[in-house]
Amino acid sequence: MEFNMNWHTPSATDYDVVIIGGGPAGSTAAIYTARAGLKTLVLDKGLTTGALGITGKIANYPGVPGDISGPELLERMREQARSFGAEYMTDKVIGVDLLGEPKSVFGNNGTYTARAVIIATGSMGRGSRVKGEDELLGHGVSYCATCDGAFFKGQEVLVAGNTDEAIEEALFLTQFASRVHFLSPTPELKAPPEMVEELLHNPKVQFYPGASLREILGQQRVEAVRFALRGQGEQTLPVRGAFIYLQGGKPITDFLQGQLELSDTGCLIVDREFQTAVPGVYAVGDVLCNHVKQAVIAAAEGATAAIAVEKVLRGRKQMVADWSK
Ligand SMILES: Cc1cc2nc3c(=O)[nH]c(=O)nc-3n(C[C@H](O)[C@H](O)[C@H](O)COP(=O)(O)OP(=O)(O)OC[C@H]3O[C@@H](n4cnc5c(N)ncnc54)[C@H](O)[C@@H]3O)c2cc1C
Repeated sequence: MEFNMNWHTPSATDYDVVIIGGGPAGSTAAIYTARAGLKTLVLDKGLTTGALGITGKIANYPGVPGDISGPELLERMREQARSFGAEYMTDKVIGVDLLGEPKSVFGNNGTYTARAVIIATGSMGRGSRVKGEDELLGHGVSYCATCDGAFFKGQEVLVAGNTDEAIEEALFLTQFASRVHFLSPTPELKAPPEMVEELLHNPKVQFYPGASLREILGQQRVEAVRFALRGQGEQTLPVRGAFIYLQGGKPITDFLQGQLELSDTGCLIVDREFQTAVPGVYAVGDVLCNHVKQAVIAAAEGATAAIAVEKVLRGRKQMVADWSK
């Protein structure tokens, strides 16, 4: 990988708990930890990048009768967490040091330290991969414009995706690339209108709505991509970089860099209070497998983990995993 671990100026913040992911799991955890008086930071890479954030209508969330959009329901949860003192920051987490004391969480915009960490990043990670993606990863294929964007000065690059994360990364790339080809799998972008406007009005951006990315081509490194617009034949586009933000159904754990144990099927392992094998590190919501994917269940897990964190940090419980049933 062409990772550049040269973080922006670290913001020397000390929190009791940092929650990675502000969906229903992370935001419910924040409601509980903040209300318990713990200094709580929620890091989230974008309102419309998680499962709830992209959902048009929710009709089965208890206490919220009628249809409500996913982003609206999320905003209500976040507002409730903020009302108890939780802080939200928009930042994409790209690394962690969970074994140190305090634990460090590295985002695109800073480093955040905490006594406990709750992972609630959901399962909107990349699912089925594009042909050529694995082979050329680190040789022009990247998932992090902030890490790798500067390698593409004066070159043409591709961004594939349709969320606010993809748009932010594309706009970041316009600082370096001569042209950013933005392929959206859907005709419309799933992001706030002002972000969409900024993207579409950027003179370096070429927008391809309803485009299916078929293959990333190249021998030693990325040379071109093959794609098709709806109802049209395939085209080849010469690019040097391919930044992929297509969503699938895979738990988002890449930023953990092997620091937490995963099962054979790539799932995080937690005890009954959602603590991982590393004391003080919890995981909740869709990022876990064997789990019914519903907002109310993710929220309940967030609450359970938050209550456990509060007990541990206040010294009412030892920070050890409890595997008893
Ligand atoms: C199309 C669709 C329809 C659905 N309909 C319903 C329904 O009707 N009712 C229902 O109960 N459930 C529904 N669900 C399921 C429900 O949305 C999920 O179970 C729930 O959102 C899971 O919550 P979560 O907090 O674990 O994950 P998510 O909601 O996915 O939230 C994860 C958060 O983590 C953030 N994140 C991820 N990686 C990083 C990173 N590296 N750095 C910083 N932040 C990060 C994301 O931006 C996101 O905000 C639906 C899901 C989908 C996809």
